[in-house]
Amino acid sequence: MKLILLGAPGSGKGTQAEHLSRRLDIPAISTGQMLREAIAAGTELGKKARLFVESGGLVPDDIMIGLIQERVTQNDCQKGFILDGFPRTIPQAEALDCAVGIDAVLSIEIADEEIERRMSGRRSCPKCGASYHMEYRQPRQDGVCDNCGSALERRADDEPETVRVRLETYHENTAPLKGYYARMGKLKSAVSQHAIEDTSQRCLGALGL
Ligand code: ADP
Repeated sequence: MKLILLGAPGSGKGTQAEHLSRRLDIPAISTGQMLREAIAAGTELGKKARLFVESGGLVPDDIMIGLIQERVTQNDCQKGFILDGFPRTIPQAEALDCAVGIDAVLSIEIADEEIERRMSGRRSCPKCGASYHMEYRQPRQDGVCDNCGSALERRADDEPETVRVRLETYHENTAPLKGYYARMGKLKSAVSQHAIEDTSQRCLGALGL
């Protein structure tokens, strides 16, 4: 199964990507996480991407297209993959169509008002990328990653002003992808619920799993 997840920042897209990845036994590929790792490691990619990511804007298409083409041709993607955060623009979607055949696109729907509340409690692991929420998805030990024991952090781009810019960017550049994939007959949607497990059920249902 080659699957794309679409959803505004705070929709729970990353959490559902991890859940579907375990369930389907295929990798979840988060371009946001790949960029954050590159920025933390100070690689060439990280240097090019940092200002775009930290301001809440988009990293240029040519950089992202190169990055994803290289990632989906790796061995662990042979049975399929889940893309979390790519494509984010129509040119990215067109490039992806040329490179691989996508089976389905799942859009996780959420109202903008709900997003801000969720984002303020969000924490993530700088090392392995696992995501948590101080209210809805607490780690076993306060402030510590369940998977790798690192100290959890608030992402630099989760500050309220940057969240506002990311939301605008989503509506302007990424939401039009819904129409693009609907016309191809590939779009499914699930409404994000208060409880993570309920959203997971909706996602599985929308995908007919
Ligand atoms: P969220 O979905 O919570 O907004 P992500 O972790 O998916 O966050 O992405 C974080 C940031 O990384 C984005 O705001 C953007 O700057 C950059 N980014 C990630 N994926 C892409 C992409 N496909 N194209 C351009 N920029 C991207």
